[in-house]
Amino acid sequence: MRPFTYSLAADAPEAVRQATVPADAHVRAPVQLMGGGTTLLDLMKLDVMRPDAVIDITPLATARYGNIEASATELRLGALVRMSDAAEDHAVVTDYPVIAQSLGLAASQQLRNMARLGGNALQRTRCSYFRDPSYEQCNKRNPGSGCAAIDGFNRLHAVLGTSEHCIASYPGDFAQALIALDATVEVLGAGGARSIRFADLHRLPGSTPHIETSLAPGEMITAYVVPAGPWTRRSAYIKVRDRESYAFALASVAVALDMDGTMVRSARIALGGVATVPWRAAEAEALLAGKPLDEAAAHKAADAAFADAKTHEHNAYKVPLGKATLVRALLTTQAMEL
Ligand SMILES: Cc1cc2nc3c(=O)[nH]c(=O)nc-3n(C[C@H](O)[C@H](O)[C@H](O)COP(=O)(O)OP(=O)(O)OC[C@H]3O[C@@H](n4cnc5c(N)ncnc54)[C@H](O)[C@@H]3O)c2cc1C
Ligand code: SF4
Repeated sequence: MRPFTYSLAADAPEAVRQATVPADAHVRAPVQLMGGGTTLLDLMKLDVMRPDAVIDITPLATARYGNIEASATELRLGALVRMSDAAEDHAVVTDYPVIAQSLGLAASQQLRNMARLGGNALQRTRCSYFRDPSYEQCNKRNPGSGCAAIDGFNRLHAVLGTSEHCIASYPGDFAQALIALDATVEVLGAGGARSIRFADLHRLPGSTPHIETSLAPGEMITAYVVPAGPWTRRSAYIKVRDRESYAFALASVAVALDMDGTMVRSARIALGGVATVPWRAAEAEALLAGKPLDEAAAHKAADAAFADAKTHEHNAYKVPLGKATLVRALLTTQAMEL
C-alpha cells in the first residue's frame, strides 16, 4: 500500500472543505472521505485507489448523520448509519421491507456491521479488470485505455445501460430499493447543503465511465430521504446469486406495489446486477399500471424491462435470469400479507 495520511473528522463542513479538490479529482481522487472503509481500503490495498489523504467521517455519526427517523410522511436514514442497524430497524423492517431486505441480503454480517449507508451507495464495480491494475485497459480506472471486459470474461457484466466504453455492472443492493422508492439524497459540499434525486446520483458510463456520480469532489452524502406511501409496506427485494450468502447479485429486483385488490394502481421496479447503474424499469411499470397483476402480465412487464438489453459473450444468461427474477419479485410482492 502507498503512504497516505489518515485523520478523524471532527466537523462535517471542515471535512468537506479538506476533501474539495480541483479538476482531475474524479480520476485521481486524492482525498477520500471514509465510512466503514470496506470498499475504500480494499481498493487501496489492490492499488486501484491511491488517495494521498483519507478522512474518517465515522466520528460524525451523531444525531444528524447517524440516526434513523420514521414519520408519517418519510423515512430519513443518516449516511453514517451502519448497514446492519438499518436492516434490523423495526420501522424499516415493517414499513419499508424492500430496504431492510436489500441491506440484509448484502455482503456479510461482519461487513454490514462496519459499512455505512453513505459509502454503500458509492461502492465501486466488481469488474475484475477494474480491480486488477496489471490490466492496463480499463476506461474506468485508466481513462482512454479501452475496455478489457468487452472482449474478455464478462459473465458478471451489465446488459442494460452499457456503452462501447464500459459494461461494468453496478454491484450494490440498497441502491435498487432507494431508486424504486423515489428517494432523495442530501449532500453537503463546500457551497453548502443540497438535495438531489437518488435517480440522478449515478451516471451512465457513456464515454466517461470514470465519472460515476453527479457528486462534486468533496461532497459528502449526509442522508437518504424516502417518501412514505401506500406502496412502501407492500415491497420486497429478491436477489439471485451464485451462492446463498456473501455474494453479489447476478440479478436482483426491488419492487413496491400500490394495489387495489388484484389491480395495480402503481408499480415501482428497480433492477440490480444487470445494469451499469441502479436501474429503474420504467417501461415495465407503465405496462402494469391500472391492470390486474397475474403471471402473464408479470411476464409481459419482464419482457419490456429487458427489451433494450445488449449482451456479450458470457452474460447473455442475465436476460432470462433477470426476467425470471422480476416475475418472481412481482408475484411475491403481490401475494404479501399486510
Ligand atoms: C467481500 C464483500 C462482499 C460484499 N457483498 C456485497 C453485496 O452483496 N451487496 C452490496 O450491496 N454490497 C456488498 N459489498 C460492498 C459493501 O456493502 C460496501 O463495501 C459498503 O457498503 C461500503 O460502505 P463503507 O461505509 O465501508 O464505504 P467506504 O469504503 O468507507 O467508502 C466507499 C466510497 O464511498 C465514499 N464515501 C463513504 N461515505 C461517504 C459519504 N457519506 N459521502 C460521500 N462519500 C462517501 C468513500 O470516499 C469511498 O470512495 C461487499 C463488500 C465486500 C468486501
Ligand atoms: S467494463 Fe468498465 S470497469 Fe470493466 S474493464 Fe471495461 S471499462 Fe473497466
